[in-house]
Amino acid sequence: MYKKVSTDLNFVEREKEVEKFWKDNDIFRKSIKSREGCPTYMFYDGPPTANGKPHIGHVLTRVIKDMIPRYRTMKGYMVPRKAGWDTHGLPVEIEVEKLLGLDGKEQIEEYGLEPFIEKCKESVWKYKGMWEDFSGTVGFWADMDDPYVTYHDDFIESEWWALKEIWNKDLLYKGFKIVPYCPRCGTPLSSQEVAQGYKDVKERSAVVRFKCKDEDAYILAWTTTPWTLPSNVALCMHPDYEYVKVKSNKDGITYYMAQALVAQVLGDDVEVLESYRGKDLEHKEYVPLFPYADDVVAKQGKKGFYVVCDEYVTLTDGTGVVHIAPAFGEDDANVGRKYDLPFVQLVDGKGEMTEPTPWAGTFVKKADMPILQALEDAGLLFDAPKFEHSYPHCWRCDTPLIYYARESWYIKMTAVKDRMISNNNKINLIPESIGKLLFGDWL
Ligand SMILES: [Zn+2]
Repeated sequence: MYKKVSTDLNFVEREKEVEKFWKDNDIFRKSIKSREGCPTYMFYDGPPTANGKPHIGHVLTRVIKDMIPRYRTMKGYMVPRKAGWDTHGLPVEIEVEKLLGLDGKEQIEEYGLEPFIEKCKESVWKYKGMWEDFSGTVGFWADMDDPYVTYHDDFIESEWWALKEIWNKDLLYKGFKIVPYCPRCGTPLSSQEVAQGYKDVKERSAVVRFKCKDEDAYILAWTTTPWTLPSNVALCMHPDYEYVKVKSNKDGITYYMAQALVAQVLGDDVEVLESYRGKDLEHKEYVPLFPYADDVVAKQGKKGFYVVCDEYVTLTDGTGVVHIAPAFGEDDANVGRKYDLPFVQLVDGKGEMTEPTPWAGTFVKKADMPILQALEDAGLLFDAPKFEHSYPHCWRCDTPLIYYARESWYIKMTAVKDRMISNNNKINLIPESIGKLLFGDWL
């Protein structure tokens, strides 16, 4: 029926009228009921989290997600649309921890897991009403009276079923990987999460003397994380760079280090005794800084405490010699695998130093100073320059992250990568920049 539109239209009023008409007449349900017997086109909403407020970005996704089912309905399909709510995740737990004044896993266990979970279940519905109003306002149709909820047992069982299928296909495995890890939350962080928490901090670095085993000389190495030194198992040089054996007339000590950095580290009053490629010094042995790793290394029956070579070493900072602790760095772990080095991890899951170090129970960052002092007392600390750098912190709780080797379960996505890419290429995603390029690149 033709109806003339006023030139003086109040869009907000008009929107409310339409919304009211849809609601009063139950148009959404009718749009499904009137298609009974027609082919089904099913829509499950990708569930939002209801303990956060909806924002402008959700308008875009809700509108796009509404367009397709609406179009299919007009093409004659019956299109049930099931709403969903994502109720899981660490943000929920952190909110409730704040609410209850708890800090960390141990205090949650003291409070009691069951009552804690109950509080989490209450917390996730905080903004449900706001979400429902907002969805109505943007004209997003979905069945909100009978949604799926990720904490319902049947949903959780489906997740376990999916995981079991992955297991049956031999795609689930236990791996050992260096991950950015929040010692307070007790969980690894994804790279996107790490990117959210960089802060400039001033810390002490260490230029350390590693005593050569077979001569009265020292290898000089620089590290920004002194707390990893008790877990040191090797020193790394670049195979092709020039290294020198050089006597410093200032302290009368003979050092091995990169030629390019001598002036910067030792000054001008030096005597260069010999010169090498890094490769020439490979397998040169040194005396461990501390005795705390001795038992672990003996038990593993692996050889450590010698010079290794890798091309990731740079000459931009330090001495051109990198201290290797395979438990605390991706590059270190790679070198550790390449040379089959011992694995020493004198730090626990709470980010605290462990026995048999004398700093057991101390948070790693707080252990830096006493470790530097112990090296100083042993005559092994060349210098401890202050330096400022951008260091990742947990975006949830502000604790400095540590890079930490952890045993975790992984899904072997590389095994299905090619199939995923080829399937993605068959999907007609619009615009192309989102589908083939953005999503394709990510795959
Ligand atoms: Zn945290």
